Amino acid sequence: MDYQTILNKIQTTLLSVNNTGKVATYIPELESIDPKKFGMHLYCNNAGHYSVGDHQERFSIQSISKVFALTLTLSKLDYNDFFKRVDFEPSGDPFNSLVQLEHENGRPRNPFINAGALVISDLLISHLDKPKEDFLTLIHTITGDKTINFNKKVYASEKKWSYRNASLLNLMKSFDNIHNDLEEVLDFYIYQCAIEMSCKELATAFMIYANRGKTLDNIEIISPEKTKRINAIMQTCGFYDEAGEFSFKVGLPGKSGVGGGIAAIHPGQYAVTVWSPPLNPKGNSELGMLALEKLTTLTGYSIF
Ligand code: GLU
Repeated sequence: MDYQTILNKIQTTLLSVNNTGKVATYIPELESIDPKKFGMHLYCNNAGHYSVGDHQERFSIQSISKVFALTLTLSKLDYNDFFKRVDFEPSGDPFNSLVQLEHENGRPRNPFINAGALVISDLLISHLDKPKEDFLTLIHTITGDKTINFNKKVYASEKKWSYRNASLLNLMKSFDNIHNDLEEVLDFYIYQCAIEMSCKELATAFMIYANRGKTLDNIEIISPEKTKRINAIMQTCGFYDEAGEFSFKVGLPGKSGVGGGIAAIHPGQYAVTVWSPPLNPKGNSELGMLALEKLTTLTGYSIF
């Protein structure tokens, strides 16, 4: 199959779409991103890689970092210890909602909403000597690129406006589901979200989920069994309260972030990433979703 022609076709089609999405503004630094940016990178197992647009430009990965945080946590902890603290059910609520915590004794619905990722940050602080360094080292290992880092401006900008995440932490603390200092947990969480990667780097990183937990250099980061579970959580919970729609339209496990990025995989076949900053009302990249819908339709390769 001529994947490059397919990506070119997707880009051309998207150029003529009326993009009604809006760039995220609640983290002020994200507002300054050019809404016209568009990049896409497809990494196929044994069939090369293909790209279009701004695929080499780094952007704020935001919630896509939650997949790496879950990976690091599951590589350290056994399931029972982990799932006592965080569930794995779709939430059906916005990514930063407090509502369910009140009814479920401070146990977040899943690891990919903010509450869940904050508990994961708490767990990682409890289990790692140098959480930030270890987190970045994981990303360096799975991409093979040591220049990847966090963006200080985005980090500082989110720190100033983190009242909602601070509320989530306080509420969970009241149920004794946060064990470390709240400021430290919030700081670590915001650091992860502020990491910048390009579509190309993210696709390379996500190949571990397409390859049963192994990097392209054959280093095992996480067991095949745990990879299967991470992929299942991406499928059911990776797109805020739009996970059903993403499954329906695209049909791949994946994760989005409010920086406008989406990373998705087809187990055994490929990883694909797309970046377009304007978001739809649910917080997912508007053109990103459309691009992936076209990819799985034109190639015929979705998991369904
Ligand atoms: N840093 C963002 C927040 O906590 C991440 C949200 C996202 O990408 O879903 O609100």
